[in-house]
Amino acid sequence: MFEKTTTRLTALYLGIIMAISIFFSLNLYNILVSELSRDFRRQGVVIDRLPDSILPFDSRDEFTNNRLIALQEAKSHVLGRLILTNVIILVGGGLLSHYLARRTLKPIEESHEALERFTADASHELRTPIAAMQSEIEVSLMNPKLTLKEAKEQLQSNLEELARLTSLSEGLLRLARLENHTIDAKISSLKSVINKSVQQVEATTKAKKISLDTKIASDIKANVDSEGLSEALTIILDNAVKYSPEKSDVIVELIKENKTAVINIIDKGIGIQAHDIARIFERFYRADSARSKHEYNGYGLGLSIAKDIVDLHGGEIKVSSKPDEGSTFSVRLPM
Ligand code: ADP
Repeated sequence: MFEKTTTRLTALYLGIIMAISIFFSLNLYNILVSELSRDFRRQGVVIDRLPDSILPFDSRDEFTNNRLIALQEAKSHVLGRLILTNVIILVGGGLLSHYLARRTLKPIEESHEALERFTADASHELRTPIAAMQSEIEVSLMNPKLTLKEAKEQLQSNLEELARLTSLSEGLLRLARLENHTIDAKISSLKSVINKSVQQVEATTKAKKISLDTKIASDIKANVDSEGLSEALTIILDNAVKYSPEKSDVIVELIKENKTAVINIIDKGIGIQAHDIARIFERFYRADSARSKHEYNGYGLGLSIAKDIVDLHGGEIKVSSKPDEGSTFSVRLPM
């Protein structure tokens, strides 16, 4: 699909280049020919006035003929040069047009590929639990001796799958809403945004007996959408708790670096391999360590949502991590 479009765009660019080149060549040719003709006529007037002793009368016609031949040669020479120049422009312009067409289409092609990947991943993630529920229900219905206890277990398992599907569709919806979205920012206290996120993960933190420590020496005010930013911080904090062992420490600190507010979320959890760090913000990406263990629920959408929110604030998220030692996620926001 993109090859055809590249060819069409190349042809369009080349058409524009050649139309301009031919237009200027024709104009240049007309100007040069009219200048040469005018010169020829001026020379004729001067020659006509020459005395017979300098240019004998009977050789004037031959002289004029020679001048006419020279004029024709000059015109053909100009025409030849202009045609050669246009052929060079055609070849060079063709190469340049192809390069420009590729450059123009590359970002569109990349986002098209990303969208295709996203759609394929999303439908795979949606189909898997649906297929699992369908086969479980079919097996149960075919069992004539199904007890009430088994039926209840079946319903419980279906309910869990449905909860996962709900969280997946909410994540997808959130990502879709963040596309082309602007934020409703106002000067807010980052301390209260952090506290709100800490509250959100209180239950999971308690369940894993993790000590969550907040280190805020002094509050910082920044122009943020507090709801959105709190959502992003909750996702990162939730991961810090999720990927940490029981009874470990998670620290949240707020510091000021020049004109940037930095929120560090530090855990001593499973850490992230270097090759995964670059990819964890991609939609549906989960590092093998997270994928392989069933205790780590998730779809790989959280960090994409957090990154989109921080990007909308003109900020960035940085990660430093060592496998089996822990990770630090730093949210940097302009003040
Ligand atoms: P998930 O739902 O899988 O947690 P995320 O987008 O939030 O999705 O995170 C993507 C991946 O990044 C996770 O699957 C995990 O491999 C890795 N990750 C994120 N945060 C941490 C962390 N604090 N410690 C270790 N790995 C993490």
